Amino acid sequence: MSDALRAALDAVEARSPRYADDLAAYVRIPSVSTDAAHAPDVEAAARWTAERLTRAGFPDVRVMPTGGHPVVVARWHHDPSAPTVVVYGHYDVQPPEPLELWDTPPFEPQVKDGKLYGRGASDDKAGVLTAIQAVEATAAAGGVPPVNVTFLIEGEEEVGSPNLLPFLEANRELLEADLAISADGGIFGVGVPSLTVGSRGLAGVEIRVRGANADLHSGMYGGAVANPLMALSRILASMQDEEGRVLVEGFYDGIPELTPAERAAIEAVPAEGDELAQLGLTEWWGDPAYSARERRLVRPTLEVNGMWGGYQGPGIKTVLPSEAHAKVTCRLVAGQEPDDVAAKLKAHVERVAPRGVSVSVTPLAGKARAYQMPLDLPVLELAADAMEGVFGKRPFPVWTGGTVPVAEQFQSVLGIWCLYFAFGEPDNGLHAPNEFFRLSTLKQGTEATVRLLYGLAGDPGALTPARG
Ligand SMILES: [Zn+2]
Repeated sequence: MSDALRAALDAVEARSPRYADDLAAYVRIPSVSTDAAHAPDVEAAARWTAERLTRAGFPDVRVMPTGGHPVVVARWHHDPSAPTVVVYGHYDVQPPEPLELWDTPPFEPQVKDGKLYGRGASDDKAGVLTAIQAVEATAAAGGVPPVNVTFLIEGEEEVGSPNLLPFLEANRELLEADLAISADGGIFGVGVPSLTVGSRGLAGVEIRVRGANADLHSGMYGGAVANPLMALSRILASMQDEEGRVLVEGFYDGIPELTPAERAAIEAVPAEGDELAQLGLTEWWGDPAYSARERRLVRPTLEVNGMWGGYQGPGIKTVLPSEAHAKVTCRLVAGQEPDDVAAKLKAHVERVAPRGVSVSVTPLAGKARAYQMPLDLPVLELAADAMEGVFGKRPFPVWTGGTVPVAEQFQSVLGIWCLYFAFGEPDNGLHAPNEFFRLSTLKQGTEATVRLLYGLAGDPGALTPARG
């Protein structure tokens, strides 16, 4: 271990008794981004974030307006020959409701058994503080951080980051960097480090099927007029075969085949109990060419999320409905474009629509591309070294089957990989009552981030550009 790293870890050790007070002060600000009544609190959290970055030594700290809540940008650039990292996180939080399920008030943080309880404690105020504390410790040891550092802390993550992509696009030069580090995310378990290497994208459409211009009497028109609900059923059923393969033309185009290394890494992720039994199921379902885990994490999906139409009240109503509706969304993987998939869904619906009805297909909001890091990316090795140095265990790659647009936005807008380096644990109660963060993890995360920053400084060649 270098003297500089040793000194920075000593600085963490010396400062760590104060970390809980900082987290408590941060959590005390009810920065609920979705609730207009909390707008002043969201502003206050932005200012608190900016002040904390200034206190850590950042010479350039800005609270920058957006179409919604502000973005805090802090820069500490001191060596043009050193790499630059941009740390992403968010200072906004989920609403605390239902309040009656909290053991202590959500915005009056309390420490019990080494855990600090409060809304946002884990998601993402501990994440933001972990990264700030790490930079602060390296600067305490070496005068300046080992790499150039930019922070980008937004206030709208919990409402889907509607202004983040335009902000990235408008501030490319300000945010120019060799690597993004997401301080929002988590590890596999308490003391069990992992590195998130992929998330899926999203595309969807709403389908509307119309028959006659009004509901009809089935005794007068049944059998002679097309039924929109039956037509919709045929359309939806035609999208997938009995084993779950998607039959929409071109749906799988451009998707690279999983490599043997990827398939092995996916199967190596530890199982989380008997999930089938927990779900009340006896078997998984879907394309037999892939394991259930592959289908849940790295293969694209097509699901009907809702369908409605016709009479749903008590008893009988012999009606021939005039309209039927459905919402269909797809989780996407690398190689698929959301707009392209939505267009293929539309073309499919129009091609298979039965005679006697008309169809309209509208894309749904919320589209996003997938994100996938190559497993042999050098920066993943550096990140694994940093985590192993603290946890004594090598992290393994994990995937999220869900959609997290920010990493892919760093890739496509700034041309850099986004390394998830964050320490939330599955039991932290994210978005739920009694959210907490372990003070021991707050310190471990800080130590791991210190190690990562020195690792990046020592091996700048590991910071490879991201292919778009
Ligand atoms: Zn978060």
